Amino acid sequence: MRITNGLLAASLALALSSAALAQPDAPPPAPPLILYRDATLIDGTGAPPRPHMSILTRGERIERVAPAAALPAPDGAEVVDAKGLFVLPGLINTHEHLATPPNRPFAEAMMKKDLYGGVTALRDMADDLRQVADLARAARVGEIPGPDIYYAALMAGPEFFMDPRTQAVTMGAVPGQTPWMRAVGPDTDLRQAVAEAKGTGATAIKIYADLPGGAVAAITAEAHRQGLMVWAHAAVFPATPAQVIDAGVNGVSHVCMLAYQASAAMPGAYHHRAAVEAERFVAATPGGVTALFDDMRARGTLLDATLWVYDEMAADHAAHPEGAAPYCSDTLAARLTHEAFTRGVIISAGTDGFSEASDPWPALQDELILLQDKAHLPPLAVVRAATWAGAYAFGHEAEAGTIAEGKLANLAFTTDDPSKDVRALKTVTLTVKRGARYWRKDYVVGR
Ligand SMILES: [Zn+2]
Repeated sequence: MRITNGLLAASLALALSSAALAQPDAPPPAPPLILYRDATLIDGTGAPPRPHMSILTRGERIERVAPAAALPAPDGAEVVDAKGLFVLPGLINTHEHLATPPNRPFAEAMMKKDLYGGVTALRDMADDLRQVADLARAARVGEIPGPDIYYAALMAGPEFFMDPRTQAVTMGAVPGQTPWMRAVGPDTDLRQAVAEAKGTGATAIKIYADLPGGAVAAITAEAHRQGLMVWAHAAVFPATPAQVIDAGVNGVSHVCMLAYQASAAMPGAYHHRAAVEAERFVAATPGGVTALFDDMRARGTLLDATLWVYDEMAADHAAHPEGAAPYCSDTLAARLTHEAFTRGVIISAGTDGFSEASDPWPALQDELILLQDKAHLPPLAVVRAATWAGAYAFGHEAEAGTIAEGKLANLAFTTDDPSKDVRALKTVTLTVKRGARYWRKDYVVGR
């Protein structure tokens, strides 16, 4: 009884003191003014760097961007000397899976590594959204250090739900019958299924696998009608890449899946499918595939190439050559990405995986090096892929992805010049997300 009373008294005292601290009736404090003075600005549009530029932020927004000489510190502003540094928009990873299976300490460690490595937003490409929604909320309000998260609810054909990953992300429920992981068949009420997906807080439907072209088109139309984006695998089996793109999806993931357009027969299902027919690409990329690039450029369909995945597959196969070869080589993936780029397709930077816990930098930096070194995108185009195109991927290009007045104060500062070599993105010294600062020197690797 005494213990109960003691606990009651303690919790009352805590409630009273936190109420006093929160002061719900008091006006919020004025947002801080911070002047980042005299950096070389890379704005994320692909434009050349501009030396001696200053950025004034007020709270979570960029208030002014101007030559350092023309932007003195306003009264009350804190000044951060950025002389000699490079500043670019916060980086964006367009392909992560933070919760397959859900593991909160792991997810928080990866989010922290991202943020202290310059990443201010990410696309979560389907997971256990019960956990992702909470991670997104916590990162958004600053409870935990991490990028802003924009996530997708998954739809796929019923056969896909034999995949153990779908069970890992729906524990306690029936795989394929949850708002965030939905088996779609001919009898599915798409209005209801899309509405429930939207209720998870998702930005998009991710169309994953094992659906015919007609279903991909129907899901896309209903998602758009209800104000959701559609992010799809570049081939959905049996839906072909051409059917996926013609359905009007906003973006496609995994560049090599586009190569299935040249296969003699489209595989009928996601699991146990044949590899892409690489021999058809030896002389030149088949016209059916280059036509996809042209269609994507005309429609503004984003390509989330995920070179990092193909590099990992190649490395795994080199280490274990007795196993099955990957469905596509890293060299073909890089070559197709290069061709998509030269044909004007918007390319973003997604990894679909994480760097080792002992690696001090997020996987995104390695994707950017692959885009530069193997797909031969110029460094400024790679920066644009990881900034403007990343924001475009989740429909926030008016809000983020470039450094401009009125946009979110999402910034990454580096000591080396990313416009010469994107390896410089492994010299991030400061990340700013929604105006809050995360100094690299405060980051402890692995924690
Ligand atoms: Zn993925």
